[in-house]
Amino acid sequence: MSSLCDKCGMPGGKSRPQHECRPGGAIWAMIEALRADEGNTVTILCDNPEGTPNSAVECCGDWTDWQQRRFTGDTVFRALEAAHTSFTTIARRG
Ligand SMILES: [Zn+2]
Repeated sequence: MSSLCDKCGMPGGKSRPQHECRPGGAIWAMIEALRADEGNTVTILCDNPEGTPNSAVECCGDWTDWQQRRFTGDTVFRALEAAHTSFTTIARRG
């Protein structure tokens, strides 16, 4: 199974230690998807806001019933990934 880098989401990660992290690409693509609809917001919290897990994002929009929903992970990438997974699941259902 090919692993994805925890930080940037690019293929590689631990199996390719020399790989150059480019967090912008994958992270920005998820932010764009999460804020694509009118009124949607994505908030990237500071690291370690209230202890572990280390990173958190908050999303608000039609897909969260306009409630602020927090997603967490070991890295910003992982937190965004959790939000994006939930978003795509809900969007598909609706
Ligand atoms: Zn990386």
